[in-house]
Amino acid sequence: MKTSHPKKIFVEKDVVKLPVTRQILDKLPNIPLQYIDDYRDIKVEGETLNDVYKKSKEFLAIAKKKGELVKRFRCREGIKGGTEYYVIHGNNCSFDCEYCFLQSYLGNAVPTIFVNHEEMLREIRNVILASAGKKIIFHAGELCDALAFDDLTDFSCKLVSLFSGFPQASLELRTKTTTIQNILNVSGNGFSPPEKEQRKNIVISWTFTPQIAIDMYEHKTPSLQKRIEAAGKVQKAGYSIGVCMDPIIRFNGWLENYETMIAELFHRLDHDKIRFVSLGGLRFLSSLASVIRERNPESDLLLGEFVPCVDGKYRYFRPLRVEAYRELWKIIGQKLNCGKISLCMESHEVWNEVEEAVSTQS
Ligand code: SF4
Repeated sequence: MKTSHPKKIFVEKDVVKLPVTRQILDKLPNIPLQYIDDYRDIKVEGETLNDVYKKSKEFLAIAKKKGELVKRFRCREGIKGGTEYYVIHGNNCSFDCEYCFLQSYLGNAVPTIFVNHEEMLREIRNVILASAGKKIIFHAGELCDALAFDDLTDFSCKLVSLFSGFPQASLELRTKTTTIQNILNVSGNGFSPPEKEQRKNIVISWTFTPQIAIDMYEHKTPSLQKRIEAAGKVQKAGYSIGVCMDPIIRFNGWLENYETMIAELFHRLDHDKIRFVSLGGLRFLSSLASVIRERNPESDLLLGEFVPCVDGKYRYFRPLRVEAYRELWKIIGQKLNCGKISLCMESHEVWNEVEEAVSTQS
């Protein structure tokens, strides 16, 4: 999958001469350029909020990430989870998922590539060295799909190369794309192909959603079939993959559709090379709910029964979430070691209830 050609590219004046900028512009010739001082000042006009988002996603910005390049993430009190780090290599992406939290988190919706890669890699290395040999987990894919621009930037090659030298540090690249060419062939960018051992600390994870829900809520994203195909190829190249069912959405017929999808995933993927399965229910802040409703007045995404939770986010009423986790866990647990299954962004109470329900049923 190649990044579709944007209608215009905003380029920060400070990064014009950086090699990654030149590389991107070479790969996207004949597109109008607008030189700007700061990507945060980009304003896209439109008659409705939906117009603004849609137009924004047709553009691309090339910029320097200022401030923190690697961010520490710790779950809010009451939510189970440890401290992890994420690398900020971009903002937004050109897909348009209705539930995307970035719609109410970032100042604009223009897909933005940060090109100060050398500084990012230095910062990652510093964080790893400061951890003094302890296990440490990094993600790329929090504020931007991890591989959304990889065909333009080759950033994954640099990450794979860096993490190959630090086995105690692990990296998860979470994506919905099929932009896996660099992952399959790191040597294509001048690096030696990593040995299987060195790849152990790198996981490529996909968000898997039943096709009917992709059609309804994950606009412009690759189909379920394409995602499974990409994941299978990455497994064959020697990597482990992660399976993220997040957000789980309780649409009409959700359980049958998830069941069918899980059967297909486990039929087509190598079970031994599935590192984890992560289950997370749909969640949102009230500020995001306003954007979702205004942009998609016809959508049934928020028609369920939602309640505010300990971290301020709305989630499905607890018995509904527990039911969803329990049922999916049960189905997945018939195919995979239950130690590999976890909940994402959930409270200790929900974890306990789900684990208890699953253990009494097995
Ligand atoms: S793929 Fe991720 S970053 Fe892109 S729109 Fe969907 S949720 Fe947002």
